[in-house]
Amino acid sequence: MISETENCGDNMKKSLSVAMILLTFINIFAICATIVSFAAEVTTPVLKKAEVNYGNVTVYWENTRTADKYRVYRKIGDGDWEYIGSTGKGFSSYKDDTVKNGRTYTYTVRAIYGKLYSSYDKEGVEAKYVSTPKIVEIKNYYSDSVRIQWNKVNNIKKYVVYRKDTKNQDWVKVAQTTSLQYRDFDIVNGRNYRYIVKAIGENGGRSGYVKNVKITALKAPEEVKLTSSSKGVKISWNKMTSGTGYRVYRKLKGATEWDLVTKIKGNTTTSYTDTKVKNGKTYIYMVRQVKGSTLGTYNPHGYTIKYIIPPKLTAKHSPNGIVLSWDKAVTGNGYKVQRKASGENEWKTISTITSLSKLKYTDEKPVYGKKNYYRIVVSDSKLVSNKRALYGINPKKKMVALTYDDGPYTPVTNQILDVLEENNARATFFVVGSRVSTYKDCIKREYSLGCEIGNHSYNHTILTSVGASTIKAEIADTNKAVKNITGQAPKIVRTPGGAVNSTVRENVGYPMFNWSVDTLDWKYRDSSSVVSSIKSNVRDGSIVLMHDLYGSTGNATEEIVPWLIKNGYQLVTVSELMAVKGIDVQKGELYCSAY
Ligand code: ZN
Repeated sequence: MISETENCGDNMKKSLSVAMILLTFINIFAICATIVSFAAEVTTPVLKKAEVNYGNVTVYWENTRTADKYRVYRKIGDGDWEYIGSTGKGFSSYKDDTVKNGRTYTYTVRAIYGKLYSSYDKEGVEAKYVSTPKIVEIKNYYSDSVRIQWNKVNNIKKYVVYRKDTKNQDWVKVAQTTSLQYRDFDIVNGRNYRYIVKAIGENGGRSGYVKNVKITALKAPEEVKLTSSSKGVKISWNKMTSGTGYRVYRKLKGATEWDLVTKIKGNTTTSYTDTKVKNGKTYIYMVRQVKGSTLGTYNPHGYTIKYIIPPKLTAKHSPNGIVLSWDKAVTGNGYKVQRKASGENEWKTISTITSLSKLKYTDEKPVYGKKNYYRIVVSDSKLVSNKRALYGINPKKKMVALTYDDGPYTPVTNQILDVLEENNARATFFVVGSRVSTYKDCIKREYSLGCEIGNHSYNHTILTSVGASTIKAEIADTNKAVKNITGQAPKIVRTPGGAVNSTVRENVGYPMFNWSVDTLDWKYRDSSSVVSSIKSNVRDGSIVLMHDLYGSTGNATEEIVPWLIKNGYQLVTVSELMAVKGIDVQKGELYCSAY
């Protein structure tokens, strides 16, 4: 039964007094029956729901067209009905903002028509009111997340955070927490997001508060790949276009702080090799965009790699073929030996080795006359050794080593190199160290064509006429000058004038090479005499002496190289000749041919 309060019960009292005038013979105890009897003429409102909103509970009902107004009643728990307010004609809801956190309210509504009252739904509709955690701040946070902070609500079990974005219209539950903030990393640059934080009361009630945020941060590249190489960890990522560059960060596994590895200007460079890494360590990398001084978002988990140095490969000529040897890999279950000859597109596996401790393989059938590239792939891992390239030399065919002293000298050296390049042939250049920096481009070209660069002293000093320290300096200075250009120091020496004595042998530190065919090109300066000298003296294993200082020598080379090839000779370097002929050269020893 509805009991009216003193303050809010005027209308109910009036209607009661009207009823009493009309029905004076009915005593006061019949009020209930009276209401019911008149209510038959005014439709009872059908209740829909009581909903918890921010700061209120709203009651909804179906609007009955006949009603002039509605009166709303409330009870708390098992208490009595209490009039709380009324609405005008045409209303179908009422906001009760006198609610308290944690309480359960039941509502009912009566329709009024003139002096007549409807009946009411005695069950009512119930709502467990929970104060709403108001979102006090929502923003892009550290450029990699959205941070939502809200007010504390007492006596609740937890908060639940929901999100939806402009692309995804459904609310997605992103977190349950008892803390008063949440950082959402699962965001995409440029999208609009809405968040609701709901409090879940101890009594099961819930409330919610909505707020919007637009993500304006620079999105991080999502396809980040890491690979170990002999140089370090290579980080590569997909190109992003919204920034003006990238920053790459690294940390050791277990560390909390990111270290900046590099700043990259422009967005077209999409890889970087971090050389400051140690074998066996596990690293975590992340890449973010940068626009001016604004840093983009990043993946806080990063991308992890255990850095393992790929095996280092060496390749040498031998009488049996090209001998490959490599360092033992730390992981994996074997190796694949792969080869690709110049002009081929694909790496071909030439041997599969199933033992991790077998570290040598001889390629007995390299592609003759071509540069053969080799690499070792560690099975069951992505490790690939450094590449090595050697020309394929057929040990069963004749071979000769043409050598040129006293250069470089651009007009002649280049003329010779043109011939060698055209004929897929190689020679050995014993260079004078003091000339090397002047003719840098010649040195580079000799090296890139697979020719061998030998040491012919620094000042063309006759080494038999000087002491140990000068001999050492003459050799060391030239080696240094060449290494500065090619990255590789010469491993063979020809002493000026071919002069060798015991002091030279003891101090030169490398194998020495003279010749078996002397063209005397420096003396006659005549190409036909050079050509005929070679034609009449050359044999399998010869070392031929010339000088890349004279045009006549360049012209002779143009003629003799095709002739040698036509006559079955492979044109090889001095070191190749000795290796393929099975001669194990020693430092301080003098060699004049491979026979
Ligand atoms: Zn010389």
